[in-house]
Amino acid sequence: MELQLPVVFNDRYQLIKKIGEGGLAEVYQAQDMALGRLVAVKALRPQYTRDPNFLVNFHREAQSAARLSDPHIVAVYDFGQDKNRPYIVMEWIAGSDLRALLDGHGKLPVDQAVEYGTQICFAVGTAHRAGLVHGDLKPGNILITPNNQIKVTDFGLAKALGDSAMDAGEVVWGTPAYFAPEQASGDRVLPATDVYAIGIILYEMLTGRVPFVGVDDQEVARKQIYEAHIPVDQINPRIPEPLARIVDAAMAKNINERFLTADHLREALTLFQQGGLSQAGLSAPISSVVGSPVQKVMTPSAVPPPPPPPARRYVPAAQAARQKKGGFDGLMFVLGILAILAIMGLIPLFVAVYAAYFREPAGNSSGLPTLAPGQIAMPYIIGLEENGARSALQNLGLTMVVEGEEPHPDLPAFTIVRQSIEAGQPVAPGTTVGVVLSQGPPLIEVPNVIGLRYEEAQPRLESLDLVVQKYEDWSAETPGNVINQDPPATSLVANRTLVTLVVSSGSRVPVGANLGGQIVLNAYEIPRIQYKAGEAINLTFFWQAVTLPTANYNLFIHLTTPQGGIVSQIDTQPQGGVRPTSNWGVGDLIVDPYQLPIPPTTAPGDYQIRIGFYTADTKARLPIFEPGRGQPDNLGALILRTIQVVP
Ligand code: ADP
Ligand code: MG
Repeated sequence: MELQLPVVFNDRYQLIKKIGEGGLAEVYQAQDMALGRLVAVKALRPQYTRDPNFLVNFHREAQSAARLSDPHIVAVYDFGQDKNRPYIVMEWIAGSDLRALLDGHGKLPVDQAVEYGTQICFAVGTAHRAGLVHGDLKPGNILITPNNQIKVTDFGLAKALGDSAMDAGEVVWGTPAYFAPEQASGDRVLPATDVYAIGIILYEMLTGRVPFVGVDDQEVARKQIYEAHIPVDQINPRIPEPLARIVDAAMAKNINERFLTADHLREALTLFQQGGLSQAGLSAPISSVVGSPVQKVMTPSAVPPPPPPPARRYVPAAQAARQKKGGFDGLMFVLGILAILAIMGLIPLFVAVYAAYFREPAGNSSGLPTLAPGQIAMPYIIGLEENGARSALQNLGLTMVVEGEEPHPDLPAFTIVRQSIEAGQPVAPGTTVGVVLSQGPPLIEVPNVIGLRYEEAQPRLESLDLVVQKYEDWSAETPGNVINQDPPATSLVANRTLVTLVVSSGSRVPVGANLGGQIVLNAYEIPRIQYKAGEAINLTFFWQAVTLPTANYNLFIHLTTPQGGIVSQIDTQPQGGVRPTSNWGVGDLIVDPYQLPIPPTTAPGDYQIRIGFYTADTKARLPIFEPGRGQPDNLGALILRTIQVVP
């Protein structure tokens, strides 16, 4: 349904002209009449408004996207709804998008592709650090400013669509050509899902084509899951091999073999960039960029191993493991790469192997010792998984024996940390090679962070390689202080264990409940939870309209026994009727204070605060679409919390 211009959304955004459309929305250039600036307005197609879940998700995702601030992210200024059309107001980007650029020019020069890729990673990395996955990265969502800066847009939209329970088939979220396998098969999307899409975008920038095409979306999705891609350096031999391997790693089918987040992919690209675009320049800057980790992983063999032979063919993991004979060199290399990828989240290791791969061995200009007839050069097997290494060595006529195990900070359990014969040394077939296996990273003792500011606790835990998750809750403690942690102090955990920190929100309790798809209770404030009979409870609600409320609702606040018997109530228009709910602007935060009396005759014990909205005429309650941190009771009210009446 096309909008007939001129149209002004909510008396503020005057649509000037349509500049594009996707499956989900139409994008208009518009004038923000309040601030007198050009903006882009993305108007969602009206069919999405039929699903209240979508609007709730849309509202939530737009809000989190609006919080992202990064020079490479298109800023979200505002969002709302005009009649039945939800819309987002964004920074106006004059210029073009990567889709148009690729359609016009085909492939891009290598250094430009890497530069764009790096900037995309900056943007997406910012989102990943904020806990947000894009979910629909594709050239159409990569805008290019006139001075050649990348701006990524549409953060959170795919998520809002994916979360809403619309009929399958009606909504396609994400774009199959850029789908990660887990997305194509409907699994959870994680930051590494975005890494895959960036991998495909890099692929397309470097070669001018996407790796997987098919007659329909299903076929493309199937190929994302099952089909190996042709490496970019096979399509264009001028693409440097290290870059091709970075693209391979970003596009690993197995999510665990990919770069963990866009930041990790960016580090690899930057490293590549700093090494120059030729292999010759690669060795010097690597150790200066990452420093000690390279040393650490290099120690098992004092002399850097010789560069493995170049891969001639891409072999997927399963196939590589099965392939017992033929083309050892290629197999060995592929196994090595796969093992590296398996621990790709650990960039220092990647860097180390990368360095090992491309560095000229010291003191030997050819890089290879002279081999007597019948001898072979001992391959570099550090980082390989035990069984893969054993069969690879068997193919060479060598025997592997495990001589011990030890913890290792980077290498996962059952991978090789040391080899008794240095890589590059001449060995005769039949030789036995001793190896030491990794037991995985040493366990970490969780420190006590209760009582610290969250801003101190978080980096302290992250510096120990723990992953921090924040949860806010009501507390008498200073807002922002950590009031609880899980796992508790002194627990021994593996690296990257999730540590949940409960942080005091002071007297403000986040709720995130959605009533009727129209009004969200963001939070409420309650100064304490123990009262004496005869006192009043000071309660302040923070409402936000998700859509324009369709009626003037009354709010009821009940103090009840745990069984639901009402002991005290307030029944009124929010804000004392000064602003009926139908006047609430979409997105406005309504601060709404009350004093809920506790009758003097109230017996000591536990009581609950329950709330809800209803229409004054029909008395119909607004249904609870999403209780957030509240709990629905069986009469359609939302139980917010229990307070105590003490003698
Ligand atoms: P899709 O992402 O599927 O290509 P969209 O509806 O997101 O479709 O966008 C349509 C087109 O509008 C984009 O290709 C882009 O060229 C343009 N566009 C989107 N956002 C902006 C913006 N903030 N500023 C300028 N142009 C934009
Ligand atoms: Mg878009």
